[in-house]
Amino acid sequence: MPGDIPADDFRRAMHRVADLVADYLESVGDYPVLPRVAPGEVARALPAAAPDAPEPLDRILDDYRALIEPNVTHWNHPGFLAYFAITGSGPGILGEALTAGLNINAMLWRSSPAATELEERVCDWLRRMMDLPEGFSGHVNDTASISSLVALAAARHRLPGLDVRGRGLAGRPAVAPLTLYASDQAHSSIDKAAIVLGLGAESVRRVETDGAFRMSVPALAAAIAEDRAAGRLPMAVVATVGTTSTTSVDPVPAIADLCRDQGLWLHVDAAYAGSAAICPELRALMPGIERADSLVVNPHKWLFTPVDCSVLYVRDPALLKAAFSLVPEYLRTEEPGVTNLMDLGVQLGRRFRALKLWMVIRAFGVEGLRERIREHCAIARWLAGAVAATPGFELAAPAPFSTVCFRAVPRGDDGDPADGDRCDRFNERLLAAVNAAGPFFLSHTVLRGRTTLRVAIGNLRTTREHIEALWRLVGERAAALAAEGV
Ligand code: PLP
Repeated sequence: MPGDIPADDFRRAMHRVADLVADYLESVGDYPVLPRVAPGEVARALPAAAPDAPEPLDRILDDYRALIEPNVTHWNHPGFLAYFAITGSGPGILGEALTAGLNINAMLWRSSPAATELEERVCDWLRRMMDLPEGFSGHVNDTASISSLVALAAARHRLPGLDVRGRGLAGRPAVAPLTLYASDQAHSSIDKAAIVLGLGAESVRRVETDGAFRMSVPALAAAIAEDRAAGRLPMAVVATVGTTSTTSVDPVPAIADLCRDQGLWLHVDAAYAGSAAICPELRALMPGIERADSLVVNPHKWLFTPVDCSVLYVRDPALLKAAFSLVPEYLRTEEPGVTNLMDLGVQLGRRFRALKLWMVIRAFGVEGLRERIREHCAIARWLAGAVAATPGFELAAPAPFSTVCFRAVPRGDDGDPADGDRCDRFNERLLAAVNAAGPFFLSHTVLRGRTTLRVAIGNLRTTREHIEALWRLVGERAAALAAEGV
């Protein structure tokens, strides 16, 4: 029988993989964050067809080392400061390895009791860590996009008399168009959820934000009233705690009051900033999240857990089950009172993601996790202070957590600040110049129509010294561009 590779070969290769990963993590900072590779270059180095004959594992790992490792964007690099910077921490990587070894499919309690029960327990640990009330029930999805989709499907299911599960929405003129509300800073995953749920992208009302990029509650109330007057059916409000561009926090208490008065589902998207809720002083920046009907937090964003790991909390798991559970005969099991995770969302099969989160929480301890999040925030505060104190730069938004938005404000020939378009060009060139240097990778956003650079601190290897070096580099490159007359 051909079977798997010989056990000894596997053991030897696994030891080598351990060395490869450990070496990588020790020296990742020596790479440029962005690989110096042109589109198509990796593909050209790969054979067009799969090998017919078996290849030695050592040769495959050599190729991994020569072709793959240097040509990824190094998310585990201390200079990775783009999007939301993340960490695949040591304990999390160990958890991933163990998950791969078990290769279980935790669709049912029966198909993996320990995976189901660990997932429930670890989600409850995190609930306590975030100071969310008892009664919130958590489970793990791959991403926040899926968590929000699932939450909004439950919101749709709660609407009385619609039976979308059974009858769908198409071809039902008597059903009023459903509407969703999220700020103009909310993540595009909410629009995607509306598309997938058959509500249509046009069902999402993008509510204006105030000067600090927080949802305007009067504008939200007006949008709901307008939709009701026009015969539409408001369904849910998505409040974002830690928006993608600026990490602003919507005023959840006032939004929760409105949702209560209007009978609307409140979904809180805390994909990034939710992790910070484990620090009491940062939890205080997000009052009202305990009033959500559903809340998503991504440990793979800022809780040092390897991609992917998103936790969705809901107040009423029975609703999720009512929206999603479908049990074909071959999946019927006998155990009473157990959770079958397949009942809580779209997918049947599921990876054992809770194991890595369990290892992360235990290996750092809650206090250790708090310390690391606080350190990131302290570094961000230092950078925000440096930006504010440097002529020719401005902060583009408040920085409540570990992400700083800023822009250069070059001077025109007359010595006054340059006009907006020139300022945008300057910042685009500045971003390109900083990223081309190698040690750092920043991303950008557009705020109130103006190009803005972002520094997102979320990697455990990033220190204050790295950010000081970044700030020196930004200053040097900005001076060079100004000298060129850009
Ligand atoms: N919500 C917010 C606030 C985000 O910033 C992001 C991604 O950055 C998402 C949702 C989507 O996350 P995911 O990639 O897990 O779907």
